[in-house]
Amino acid sequence: MELSILYRGPLASCDYDCGYCPFAKRRDSPETLRADREALERFVGWVGAQAEDRINVLFTPWGEGLTRSWYRTAMVELSRLDHVGEVAIQTNLSSRTAWTAEADLGSLALWCTYHPDQVPYERFVERCTELRERGVRFSVGIVGLAEHLDAARRLRAELPADVYLWVNAAEGHTYSDREAAPWTEIDPLFPVSRFAHPSRGHACRAGETVVSVNGDGEVYRCHFVSRTDPSERLGNLYDGSYRAALRPRLCPLTECDCHIGYVHMPELGLYETFAGGVLSRIPADVPRAAEGPVLLTIRSAPAAGTRPR
Ligand code: SF4
Ligand code: SF4
Repeated sequence: MELSILYRGPLASCDYDCGYCPFAKRRDSPETLRADREALERFVGWVGAQAEDRINVLFTPWGEGLTRSWYRTAMVELSRLDHVGEVAIQTNLSSRTAWTAEADLGSLALWCTYHPDQVPYERFVERCTELRERGVRFSVGIVGLAEHLDAARRLRAELPADVYLWVNAAEGHTYSDREAAPWTEIDPLFPVSRFAHPSRGHACRAGETVVSVNGDGEVYRCHFVSRTDPSERLGNLYDGSYRAALRPRLCPLTECDCHIGYVHMPELGLYETFAGGVLSRIPADVPRAAEGPVLLTIRSAPAAGTRPR
């Protein structure tokens, strides 16, 4: 069986201070950090024992994980397991990257988000250059806010052409075609993020070959379908009860508006687009701006102007 796991433990603190984020400059108590570390170590031990399966892991901490030694250690250990296909983490890339030298770079990958108001441009690019020199696979992204446009253009111009720069539609923002155009020039896949994807009653791999796991090992289909509704709980990782619940499922929500969710909807064909980098958001072939927008997912998007995020 191949299983992709989105893991999110108790950690909810970050060294950055993004205005729109509830975890900005939040500190976790020593107890929470200890619990997060123990939960992560237990999870890594569990993955290590699943040698009969092929496992992919994306760490999606509420805050920043790579400033904590146990996330770096987990990434290294998981990358070295033969049955782990891809292990990735969402990061602001504020930490140095030397730890990646210990990892198996065939499976390790980073999902790096650039926050222009939090870090000097040169420092972020320096980190990207470090990753590149070390041979680490990574994607780089930015939120499509008007005040980020100049930085995004500069980044696209200066990053190597084969490093994918994704643009996320800003939360709660509706893009006119004119507003969307410069973002699509930077990221030809921006049309995929621009609109939320209608999903109720649509097939999704979440709950079948993709699951969301918290620090206690509680398993849900994804990060978005209720994690407080007992009927949506699939079981627990550590007693094996989740396994009997894995089956093809239809999404119960009106729409899916986040890459870590809709990438698993078969109708969008994104497993082909991101073959080898589904979790880290690294396309098989980085789309070039000059080639124009990628049209494959526009078929599922609602009419322009209806994005409700
Ligand atoms: S870097 Fe990410 S987690 Fe940290 S404050 Fe910004 S948005 Fe929040
Ligand atoms: S479409 Fe999105 S919200 Fe619905 S089950 Fe899949 S990942 Fe979850």
